[in-house]
Amino acid sequence: MYDIVIVGGGPAGSTLARLVGDRYRVLLLEKRSFTENMGFVSQKCCGGLLDPDAQRMLARFGLGIPKDVLMSPQLFAVRTIDIKNRIERYYQRHYINIDRNAFDKWLESIVPPDVTIINDCIYRSCSENEGYLTVRFTHGGREYEERTKLLVGADGAFSGVRRQCFDKQPLPELYICIQEWYRADSSGRNYYGAVFDDEITDFYSWTIPKEDRIILGSALAPRGDVLRRFDLLKTRLKEYGFDFGERLARNGAYLYRPVRGSHICTGGGRIALVGEAAGFISPSSAEGISYAFRSSLALARALDQGIEGYSDRYVENLQPLRRNIFLKNMKSPAMYNTQLRKLAMRSGLLSIDIVE
Ligand SMILES: Cc1cc2nc3c(=O)[nH]c(=O)nc-3n(C[C@H](O)[C@H](O)[C@H](O)COP(=O)(O)OP(=O)(O)OC[C@H]3O[C@@H](n4cnc5c(N)ncnc54)[C@H](O)[C@@H]3O)c2cc1C
Repeated sequence: MYDIVIVGGGPAGSTLARLVGDRYRVLLLEKRSFTENMGFVSQKCCGGLLDPDAQRMLARFGLGIPKDVLMSPQLFAVRTIDIKNRIERYYQRHYINIDRNAFDKWLESIVPPDVTIINDCIYRSCSENEGYLTVRFTHGGREYEERTKLLVGADGAFSGVRRQCFDKQPLPELYICIQEWYRADSSGRNYYGAVFDDEITDFYSWTIPKEDRIILGSALAPRGDVLRRFDLLKTRLKEYGFDFGERLARNGAYLYRPVRGSHICTGGGRIALVGEAAGFISPSSAEGISYAFRSSLALARALDQGIEGYSDRYVENLQPLRRNIFLKNMKSPAMYNTQLRKLAMRSGLLSIDIVE
């Protein structure tokens, strides 16, 4: 019998396993193989930017990123394009540009050796028995069962654990993200691009240079015309000097946007949720790695005093993160209301001049 089975070895699941793996008997189940020839589609679809909050959490954990996780160029400015209002501004920002799959592989590699990790497996279901849970998963074409005292859903947006076990709790707003990879131009100018256009999405789109490539991505409301709106984005960005040429790859993922407190579900009883599965992600920027770290730390601290009664302690430890999401939602209108954004960008407040 395991003490804790964690479903998902992303930043939330691996971090939790790392923080509690010395004290508990832990099983970590992860769908990805993290082998060399992991196909592009099975890789995590992500912008791969570590913002200052994620950097701060790495600092608190005492972790430094190995160089094979980094990707050039490192970025210091956001080029913000408001297509509808026809305004463009640059803002200084401090991101670390990473290879997201190498990052997750590294986080998994620093989990204590006592933790049992099974990659390339898929969690299927769980059922409650007296005093424990039975967890079912498939691996290498076979079905397996394990018993555990606590199950943690760290399986990201559209979490299977959450949908199976907490189906009465409202889900955060769901977006479909598409990312396409193109050859980067050779102008030598490198920005993280944030693009706003209400006709394409009520959230935002982005461009991120990665080595000799550039990602074009967008978070789109899941209506039938997702690909048409993505193509419209590509067409409109031509006016701003982007010429995407031949598409090298495309992948997609779900993204949660918690716009109400009730969208956050931390679980209960013998099942806890962490990271994006719980709804922890910025509703204004879709930055989720620091939230994955912070919610896992909150659960690990709650487990310091044992599994018994952990749930109340976890809820208590999460208060600052809930407040953070509330404040991000308060800030959202300045970014996502067309008129307020126009005012903010027109004012030039906090923007920088670009030297040609
Ligand atoms: C397109 C896009 C771009 C983004 N860009 C950024 C960015 O630049 N910076 C940033 O901070 N955040 C970004 N985010 C958000 C960020 O990726 C997530 O919030 C963050 O990864 C959440 O971490 P997590 O560990 O909770 O979930 P995830 O990283 O999603 O990890 C969940 C893990 O569970 C595994 N899993 C899922 N189901 C199963 C199953 N049934 N069985 C076994 N394993 C399973 C998955 O393989 C995955 O490894 C982006 C999100 C998207 C969609």
